[in-house]
Amino acid sequence: MLQLASIKKSFSGKEVIKEVDLSVNKGEVVVIIGPSGSGKSTLLRMINALEYPSGGDILLEGNSILFKESKGKKHPYSEKELSRFRTEIGMVFQGFHLFAHKTVLENIIEGPIHVRKMKKEAAIEEAKVLLEKVGLSDKQDAYPHSLSGGQQQRIAIARALAMKPKMLLFDEPTSALDPELVGEVLVVMKNLALEGMTMVVVTHEMGFAREVGDRIVFIDQGVIVQDAPPQHFFHSSNKNERIHKFLNTLT
Ligand code: ADP
Ligand code: MG
Repeated sequence: MLQLASIKKSFSGKEVIKEVDLSVNKGEVVVIIGPSGSGKSTLLRMINALEYPSGGDILLEGNSILFKESKGKKHPYSEKELSRFRTEIGMVFQGFHLFAHKTVLENIIEGPIHVRKMKKEAAIEEAKVLLEKVGLSDKQDAYPHSLSGGQQQRIAIARALAMKPKMLLFDEPTSALDPELVGEVLVVMKNLALEGMTMVVVTHEMGFAREVGDRIVFIDQGVIVQDAPPQHFFHSSNKNERIHKFLNTLT
C-alpha cells in the first residue's frame, strides 16, 4: 500500500529524518512511537504530502507521490497534483482542526461535496452513516465548541473517513484529551482497524499499540531504531537501550 524508500528531510540544513525505509501493507496498523522531536510528525506530514522530502521516494500503491516520469526523466508534482494525494490519505491531528463555524454535519460533508464533487443529499446520507459509526448520531446539528474533546476527535475521524481515503494517518490523536476521554477515541480507532482500514498511528498509548498494532516502529533522532511486532517489541527480552529508556519515561 505504502512504501517509503530512503526518505530524508532537512530543515535549514538540519537533518531531522535521516534515511527512513518503511512499508505498510494493506489492512495493517503500524504504530509509530518515539521521543518528542524524533521526527514522527514530519514523517506523517511527508506521507500526506504536507511536507516535501529532501531525498528518497514515497510510493502509494506502487506509484510515486513525489515524482512523475516523462521522457525518461523525473519531475516533481505540482502543488495542485500534490493536493490530490492529500485526499487519498486521510489525516487526524492532535488538535481536531474542525471548522468552528460549521455544524458537525457540515464539517463532514464539506470535503465530499467540494473536493469529491458529491451531491449534497448523497454526502448527507453518507455522513449520517459515519456519525453512527463514531457514536454521535445525535450531534449532527451541534457546533464543535459544544462538544467534548473526545467527541470532536471522533467527528474529525468521521470527516476523514468521508473522503474515502486509502489509508488513515493519526498524529497523537488522544494527546490533547482529558484522560477520561481517551478511551472513546481509541475504541473508534480500534473498530476501524478491525474493519481492515490501513492505518499509521503516532501515539503514546502503549495499551493501544500492544493490542491493535500489527507492528511497532520506534523512531529516535530521525532513524528507525526498531520495527517489530508488538509481542517482540514489548517483550522483556527486547533489550534495546533507547527503547527501554523511552518506555520508562512513560510509566
Ligand atoms: P515529533 O513529532 O517526533 O515530536 P517533529 O517531526 O515534530 O517531531 O520534529 C522533528 C524535528 O524537526 C524537531 O527538531 C523539530 O524542531 C524539527 N522541525 C519540525 N518541523 C519543522 C519546521 N517546519 N521547520 C524547522 N524545524 C522543524
Ligand atoms: Mg509530533
